[in-house]
Amino acid sequence: MRNIYLDYAATTPTRPEAIEAMQPYFFELSGNPSAAHSYGQRSKAPVGPAHRNASMMLNCAGDEVFFTASGTESNNTVIKGVADACRDKGNHIICSQIEHSAVLEPCRYLEKRGYQISFVRADGTGLVDPEEVKKSITRQTILISVMLANNEVGTIQPVAEIGRIAREHEILFHTDAVQAFGHIPIDVDTMYLNFLSVSAHKCYGPKGIGALYQRKGSPFTPLLHGGGQERGRRSGTHNIPGIAGFAKAMELARLEMNDNHERIGRLRQKLITGLLDKCPGIRVNETPERTLRHIISITFKGVNNQELLTALDKEGIYISRGAACGAGSNKPSHVLLAMGMSPEEANSTIRLSLGKWNTDDEMDEAADVISKTVLRLRK
Ligand code: PLP
Repeated sequence: MRNIYLDYAATTPTRPEAIEAMQPYFFELSGNPSAAHSYGQRSKAPVGPAHRNASMMLNCAGDEVFFTASGTESNNTVIKGVADACRDKGNHIICSQIEHSAVLEPCRYLEKRGYQISFVRADGTGLVDPEEVKKSITRQTILISVMLANNEVGTIQPVAEIGRIAREHEILFHTDAVQAFGHIPIDVDTMYLNFLSVSAHKCYGPKGIGALYQRKGSPFTPLLHGGGQERGRRSGTHNIPGIAGFAKAMELARLEMNDNHERIGRLRQKLITGLLDKCPGIRVNETPERTLRHIISITFKGVNNQELLTALDKEGIYISRGAACGAGSNKPSHVLLAMGMSPEEANSTIRLSLGKWNTDDEMDEAADVISKTVLRLRK
């Protein structure tokens, strides 16, 4: 049976080097890293390198990063945590309409509790206009949160420009970098960031481990209170195997970033060219210089994306309609609607996302099978 995985933006396999790095911490070195004895302390070994690797990826100090259980937890920590810590300053938060639900939902949660939220729109290419963000600022604004790159269409946002506006207005600035981390260079200084969220399972690390960058002195109330781990920012026994795997994934992501960018870019072009050659009535939703190389959004005129996904699944090709968490719902994607697509167009759009183990042959085969399936469904 064919087995072509084109859903790397939903999650990546854990790379073998990361699995190897995790292995000792399940049994031989499985003490509690907060324990006073030396066995526990030895189990803590991966934490230092993990902080260092994250700091090299982001251009920050090692202790400005702490580990969480997911990108979702990192986003919730910032949004609810800043809202709580800054409630005497104001009650207004700005985010974009195309954020992942892990940002939108905590914002809606706060909205129900009396906070004001401005959801800034995106243009037809999925780009948030920094001027729109600026126009939304009020005296009550305490936080701006705009993602670094979108998870459905891959658009890389003008985060540095938005960050500069936030800094000029002395407003805290957060970016959800879950999709971009490991794929494009990130610098928290030139992007004027106070907070940044990442997740290991999007860059070949294990699931269940994320991280949050917090610029020194940026206020937030922790989400989890307890044993005071991570300098009180995130209580709970460290997930040492997860941290070890994430550290290795970050180390290799940094070393391989340029090569991967070039290789995935070539595979991307091959798949897109193959589809455009074989299948009329399709539109690639991209702005080449502003789109993450591994995410391809395509609208297939006259084809329902759920039917296409199911048909391709039977052929051993695994794709998605958009965010994995929206799977199962027939609702059109909020991202595509915000970009101005009609519900019909949005429901004819799929996301193909590429990664490390895709090959040239797979691109040829996928273009062939997807085109034939689309033509068959259209009949
Ligand atoms: N933010 C973005 C942009 C994402 O794409 C995802 C996952 O798809 C998340 C946040 C949530 O990350 P996690 O799965 O680690 O909770």
